[in-house]
Amino acid sequence: MYSTKAYSAASATARFVSSSIPRRDPTDRDVQIEILFCGICHSDLHLVRNEWSSIMPTVYPIVPGHEIVGRVTRVGSAVTKYKPGDLAAVGCLVDSDGTCPECKAGLEQLCPNQTLTFNSPDKYLGGVTYGGYSDSIVVDERFVLRVPSNLYIAGAAPLLCAGITTYSPMRRGGVTKGKKVGVVGLGGLGHMGVKFAHAFGAHVVAFTTSPNKKEDALRLGADEIVVSRNADEMKKHAGSFDFILDAVAADHDINAYINLLGRDGTVTIVGAPEKPLAVSAFSLLMGRRKLAGSIIGGIAETQEMLDFCGAHHINADVEVIPIQKVNEAYERLLKSDVKYRFSIDMASL
Ligand code: NAP
Ligand code: ZN
Repeated sequence: MYSTKAYSAASATARFVSSSIPRRDPTDRDVQIEILFCGICHSDLHLVRNEWSSIMPTVYPIVPGHEIVGRVTRVGSAVTKYKPGDLAAVGCLVDSDGTCPECKAGLEQLCPNQTLTFNSPDKYLGGVTYGGYSDSIVVDERFVLRVPSNLYIAGAAPLLCAGITTYSPMRRGGVTKGKKVGVVGLGGLGHMGVKFAHAFGAHVVAFTTSPNKKEDALRLGADEIVVSRNADEMKKHAGSFDFILDAVAADHDINAYINLLGRDGTVTIVGAPEKPLAVSAFSLLMGRRKLAGSIIGGIAETQEMLDFCGAHHINADVEVIPIQKVNEAYERLLKSDVKYRFSIDMASL
């Protein structure tokens, strides 16, 4: 065991402070990574503030962060895919049982015995796992990902959660040329959703509550932008979508989007607001519409997404901040005031 620097929060209302945390010494199968950048996901904020207490209660102190890119510093003797000096990444998962039907299908994100990168029971050290707002991390080789060398490192970090969470449902949902696709909420996830839907060839409509994001949405790849608080703008698209990705972090009217679907269309929710959403049965019945959910993606699919980003030169749009600004960044995230993901430069730690 060794000690490494981190930023942690001691309670749901505490500010982040500099601290030190234990990490295990790499086992034969482990990769030790010096963290260069870590994205700030809204899930970090939900968990730090214990907003998912009924599903996933927060254990304090918490060190969040699951959008990690760094440099390999050490590898165990059985590690074959990485060597010191390699660029490597870690997302939301650091372990799973490897034997259940979900793992066998490459769906480690659905494994009942998975270990999340933070706030999950730590099999090695006891207590809970600590995430990427820290100097270094030690991860089983099976959960380490390769970062294409042409990507901008600070902008590649958010791909590990915001990227895979939007890529996976769109790939499975048949988002291709000829399809009309909506993306709701231009935050960290949503802006990646727009980039992927555009790259997959769909006609993309971005829905935002922030009129000041209109021009950006076009630059990100949207063909049309709707300010969702404008009922007339919404009405124009009634019954016309094949697929809508809902990436909103707060309470909102989901029926407004279900009503925009055409026959057999699907709204897939990836946002995870604290409170349940009210769904009108009639919105679904009319048009045989579907409401679905999706959570991150498996390890192989995450690598596929990173390789796709390398091939298509896709990065997240990031505002790089030093770790000392993390408290301020959380307040800005709540105001939808980030274009479009904070990426922490860990050299500041
Ligand atoms: P984010 O950067 O804060 O983006 C959320 C966006 O939602 C905001 O930028 C804003 O976009 C919109 N929004 C915020 N408040 C709203 C409101 N009251 N009504 C309507 N729209 C509102 O968050 P994120 O990191 O992208 O995460 C989004 C959600 O996905 C979070 O709940 C997070 O926990 C969840 N998540 C889920 C998964 C998964 O695997 N399913 C993975 C990661 C994150 P506009 O300004 O454009 O309106
Ligand atoms: Zn996340």
